[in-house]
Amino acid sequence: MLRRVLLAASASKRVHQIIMAAPFTRDVVARFVAGDTADDVLRVTQRLQADGLLVTIDYLGEDTVDPGQAAAVTDEYVRLLGRLGAAGLASDGRAEVSVKPTAVGLDLREHGEKTATENITRICAAASAAGTTVTLDMEDHSRVDATLRILAQVRQEFPDLGCVIQSYLRRSPEDCEALAFAGSRVRLCKGAYGAPEGAAFANRAEIDRSYARCLRVLLNGEGYPMFATHDPRLVDIAGGRAVAAGRSPVSFEYQMLYGIRPAEQLRLAGGGARVRVYVPYGNDWYGYLVRRLAERPANLVFFGRSLASRG
Ligand SMILES: Cc1cc2nc3c(=O)[nH]c(=O)nc-3n(C[C@H](O)[C@H](O)[C@H](O)COP(=O)(O)OP(=O)(O)OC[C@H]3O[C@@H](n4cnc5c(N)ncnc54)[C@H](O)[C@@H]3O)c2cc1C
Repeated sequence: MLRRVLLAASASKRVHQIIMAAPFTRDVVARFVAGDTADDVLRVTQRLQADGLLVTIDYLGEDTVDPGQAAAVTDEYVRLLGRLGAAGLASDGRAEVSVKPTAVGLDLREHGEKTATENITRICAAASAAGTTVTLDMEDHSRVDATLRILAQVRQEFPDLGCVIQSYLRRSPEDCEALAFAGSRVRLCKGAYGAPEGAAFANRAEIDRSYARCLRVLLNGEGYPMFATHDPRLVDIAGGRAVAAGRSPVSFEYQMLYGIRPAEQLRLAGGGARVRVYVPYGNDWYGYLVRRLAERPANLVFFGRSLASRG
């Protein structure tokens, strides 16, 4: 309930202005975001890799309706991948990138899907040159079909392009079936956006059951599943089902967000699992921050404490 209220409130211009302008917001952002610049994210990537973790980097931004902005975001990814490659951080996919289709043009009024497809192809070419991969983030339910079409199109040239499936959508077990083929990289998460009840489960237990169902489909298939969750029960279920499906520890991975359950990330990696941390950077962090607050209202307490400590 609170989650839905927060996601709805975040669309208000006034709420946006208040959160962006509040000085204490910076403390909260610093917990979840590597910093404003590529230098910041390269430093964090180096540190995480030194701890035995893999990384996926997100250049923050979404919902752009400006072709120039979509091109600028694409350029930033291409530059970042060049720097990752030059620094030796990208080899064997140790650091890859995550891209939101609406950040690179999907929402443009004219030729949005075509532009996003072209921009994602450019990013995939840069990733391939650096020795790594790209994963398409999944945004709200109205973008799923277009995102999967872009995936299919770009995979013809770059078959290691991955995507995200969200277990809160009722359609997702079927999408997992369709994507459980050899070479397919699928990140499974619960879903961080609001969605109408016809399209999505509203109840946590149903979302978790759907996650377990999708997880089984992916592990029994031939692709490379990436379990993006901090939920201890689902992490255990994934580990147990992987063993039951005869999967080796290098044939799937766990993924968690930067700043969330870091000790658990290290524990899993220390036990021999592949663990990837999703690290955002850039100054367009508003939408990302609101989703982190909405999925865990306790984070609002952290927010409140920062406020109180500033007087
Ligand atoms: C690598 C990665 C990529 C993602 N990509 C997408 C995407 O493309 N599209 C999309 O819709 N969603 C994406 N998400 C977000 C995801 O859908 C969930 O909203 C988010 O992961 C919280 O769900 P959970 O599975 O961790 O379980 P929850 O039941 O929400 O949380 C389980 C436990 O994790 C901890 N936790 C969870 N969230 C937080 C938080 N914000 N702050 C502090 N602790 C927390 C708490 O201990 C909590 O009890 C991604 C998540 C990850 C990890």
